[in-house]
Amino acid sequence: MAKYIFISGGVMSGIGKGVATASIGKILQSKGFKVTAIKIDPYINVDAGTMNPIEHGEVFVTDDGTECDQDIGNYERFLNLNLTTDNYITTGRVYQTVINRERNLEYEGKCVEVVPHIPEEVISRIKKVAKKTRADFVLIEIGGTVGEYQNLLFLEAARMMKLSRPQDILFILVSYLPIPKMIGEMKTKPTQHAVRSLNMAGIQPDIIIARSQTPVDKPRKRKISIFCNVSQEDVISAPDIESIYEIPVNFEKENLGNIILKKIGLKSRKNNLKDWENLIHTIKRTKKKVRIGIIGKYFKTGRFTLLDSYISVIEAIKQASWFHKRKPEISWIGAEEYEKDPKSLKELKNYDGIIVPGGFGQRGVEGKIKAIEFCRKNKIPFLGLCLGMQLAVIEFARNVCGLKTANSTEFSKNCKLPVIDVLPEQKALLKEKRYGGTMRLGAYQCKIAPKTASSRAYGGSETSERHRHRYELNNGFRDTLEQKGMIMAGINPKRDLVEIIELKNHPFFVGTQFHPEFKSRPLNPHPLYKEFIKAALKNKK
Ligand code: GLN
Repeated sequence: MAKYIFISGGVMSGIGKGVATASIGKILQSKGFKVTAIKIDPYINVDAGTMNPIEHGEVFVTDDGTECDQDIGNYERFLNLNLTTDNYITTGRVYQTVINRERNLEYEGKCVEVVPHIPEEVISRIKKVAKKTRADFVLIEIGGTVGEYQNLLFLEAARMMKLSRPQDILFILVSYLPIPKMIGEMKTKPTQHAVRSLNMAGIQPDIIIARSQTPVDKPRKRKISIFCNVSQEDVISAPDIESIYEIPVNFEKENLGNIILKKIGLKSRKNNLKDWENLIHTIKRTKKKVRIGIIGKYFKTGRFTLLDSYISVIEAIKQASWFHKRKPEISWIGAEEYEKDPKSLKELKNYDGIIVPGGFGQRGVEGKIKAIEFCRKNKIPFLGLCLGMQLAVIEFARNVCGLKTANSTEFSKNCKLPVIDVLPEQKALLKEKRYGGTMRLGAYQCKIAPKTASSRAYGGSETSERHRHRYELNNGFRDTLEQKGMIMAGINPKRDLVEIIELKNHPFFVGTQFHPEFKSRPLNPHPLYKEFIKAALKNKK
């Protein structure tokens, strides 16, 4: 029978609850257990696909085409699993199911109520994952922070599960202990309040993961123990660290794995984190740098820079750099700057490689096209991801094929030279305003042409990669582009759609219609990213 661990957050968001969840999973996995993880997001959006990245952070995509929270990406990276739509629960999804069921008379005349029908649906979704995956441990991360109105029904579901099988269920609170500058001391009071809030929902945490800038000392552990009703050993110190991949190892230093096993009635086990420890060793030891610029637009929120929007791209760059024993130095370049001041383009020469990642809408597009032109002409290794690939095609059409007004119908509806265009079925969806969950999503096969950078990278002639886009390279322009030297290096055989483009006579110029970053893993970096970093290192010399 599966064991369930609920992980909720206290004090504030952004303290690394997702990574903590993934790390707990990693530890249990390394002790020989089969683990899976579920992310619950309390928003009404059915999935993350309709949200702006500045609002939500990256929209992660699974093989089965679920547009979900970036934490699913953390779970996949740490646990080396491919998760599915079942691993992602939102308020929207839960209510949608219950309402549809009610409309179909499946409640047989009963009054359908928020309690118990909503928590019951949550529980049934959690149990479905356990049953389908046959996992020993199902980790369930409840998004948001305890005390929020939004996640109460999910806590209620957790409480109900605990009531029915107390021996199989554990609660972990990931909390934060601030060290206010003017006080200079680590404060436990916000955590005490968070535990009270959890208590009000009928839940007592078994373990508290105490996040802070520095390690949590004995006096603080004692305080948390007394006021939060947990023993001192069950307060896990989780200080800020250089790399998130260190977290499982740090948790184990506090004996977290065996504390969990003991509480849930299982015998202690040794972990095996050898490969993982080697990776951390590399991360810490490498000094030589590789400088990568990302040209995007989802960075700024007020006075702050947001890195969440491109998290999988960032992790993929890091993983591939570590593979080549290099320390990645990643810079954020706002595309719009190049529209205002094209002279500043020459700063791109300071980078060993440039990435233009995915994106939607017109803003920043012309600046990105200018930057791509600069990379093409100056032989700077370039990796274009989805939108980045589409813009590389537009740039090439305009400046090499002489199709001066070439564009994507995403940016110019009535464009005469639509080198990037929607497929008829996508057009129909747009007309009906059916936006949610309707893009080309998830895994598609890709046949790779021989003797290309891609075939070198993959070391084979076929792959499957994840998509999230509406627009495609317009096959009507394929010949023209090819005649001028663009290589169609990857094709989806079923639909005859271009998946990868490359350029001849360039050290590395690759654009992918898919998002390779979604499949990059710390111990198994993505082949195209590895090849890109390799070219970037050559460029350095
Ligand atoms: N906006 C483009 C499209 O919809 C690219 C999407 C992306 O970069 N993920 O096709």
